[in-house]
Amino acid sequence: MTLKRELGDRARDWVRATARSGAAFALAFMTLLLILIPTRAEARERAIRVPLTIHVATDDGRSVVSESRILASVRRANRELAAFDVYLVVEKIVPMVGGTTIETSEQRFALARRAQRDGTVHVFFVDRVELTSARKGDRRVSGMHWRYHGLAKDIRAREYLAVAHNAPTTTLVHEVGHAFGLAHDSSEDNLMCSCRRGMDPAFTKGQGRRLRNGARRYLQRSRR
Ligand SMILES: [Zn+2]
Repeated sequence: MTLKRELGDRARDWVRATARSGAAFALAFMTLLLILIPTRAEARERAIRVPLTIHVATDDGRSVVSESRILASVRRANRELAAFDVYLVVEKIVPMVGGTTIETSEQRFALARRAQRDGTVHVFFVDRVELTSARKGDRRVSGMHWRYHGLAKDIRAREYLAVAHNAPTTTLVHEVGHAFGLAHDSSEDNLMCSCRRGMDPAFTKGQGRRLRNGARRYLQRSRR
């Protein structure tokens, strides 16, 4: 073998070896990426962003609730929900003519017509919310989560939350709890208590887990 040829062979071997180690490096890099990507995706999946469309009833051209009061309710809700990586984000605030009182089924349907299934959670801030039941009669409440189970096509499966103008700032997060699948709790320290709640009510860890699943389900069905 001539020196020249030998050098050529060596060079070829070197190129091959480099290519091999390059491939090995690429493989290691890809593996590293595969290890890293799921954790990134997981992180992205962990935080649940809940867009809100807030409708504000007006009376004689004046909002029945001030914007600062509305935002205080949203902040209060986020203070509780952040522990479970759920965040309410105000997408838009829409003033509406009328709709100040929710009492009759016609009024509830009228709001449902405004609560389009656009992937957001619709919240109506109104003057008064009243529940009518044959057993309990009329009962003024500070808020409600309402979902239509009837057959009328234009409002099929629509749902929304309503909060009265003088409701405590915990009402919104309480109704969000219902919307995301939580039932009432009897403890005064719990946000899902239908009682006069204590000074600093909160959700339990179990409620937090259910909330997250409920939030995902709500957002899925609100897009269909
Ligand atoms: Zn309730």
